[in-house]
Order: sequence, then structure tokens, then C-alpha cells
Amino acid sequence: MRLGALLLCGCLAAACLAQSPKPATVRGTLLQRPGKPPAIETAGHGIVSLDGDDPTKGVLNDQRLAGFELEAKGRFIAPDQFLVDPIHTKAMFIHKDGHVKVITYWCDVCSIRTYTPGPCWCCQKETLLDLRDPDQDQ
Ligand SMILES: [Zn+2]
Repeated sequence: MRLGALLLCGCLAAACLAQSPKPATVRGTLLQRPGKPPAIETAGHGIVSLDGDDPTKGVLNDQRLAGFELEAKGRFIAPDQFLVDPIHTKAMFIHKDGHVKVITYWCDVCSIRTYTPGPCWCCQKETLLDLRDPDQDQ
């Protein structure tokens, strides 16, 4: 009787975890493939598709970042699908030459910094990719 209750309890806990996956991190090479969502190739050579909000997808589809080593925080929605946390949580980093870099975009005309690629909202000039040290970025 008690064992049955425990098992039931364990099953419920497992079902609960499946519905709200634990926070996770993926790290590997950023892949951009025609007609497919952006993905990370992990050290074990697994391919994990990445999804997120529009600014996040803007970063993931930025061709200047293809081939970089990317780390993203979020959660797995399937074994090979990862949902990146919203852009304002700064859930993405680049690993470059042994350093962690924050992905930012910079308009050198207006001195305006944004976190997704595209034209500057002020002067419409295309912003420049600017990988920064985390301690430079608040
Ligand atoms: Zn500007």
C-alpha cells in the first residue's frame, strides 16, 4: 500500500518535470543552415535546434556569428530542441579565445547599444556586432 503510494507520487513528480523542464544550458558551435532553424552542434556532435523570442532569433540568425562557440541558457522542449530564455535575461554568450563575451550591437554614429542585429532605431544605420567582456556590460 505504502509502496504503491510512493510509486504514484514518483510518477506524478516525473510528469510534472516533463511539463516544466529544468533550466539548462547548451554550448557548442552555432550552425546556420538554409531552410532550417539555427542550431548548436555540441561537443558530442549532437545537433540541438534553437528557438526563442524574435530578438533572440535575430542574434541566432546573425551570419556574423556562424561558427562561433555559443552558450545559451534556457530549457529543452525536446531532446533535440532548446528554447532560449528571453533576450532581456541575457541568456546567450560567445566563448572566444578562452573568454566569455556578451553579444551586443553598436551604432557608432549615435553611440547606442542594442542586443539584437538590425538597423539603429535612431539613424537606421546597420549596427555593428560588438562582443564585449561581461564586466563592461551592465
Ligand atoms: Zn544610430
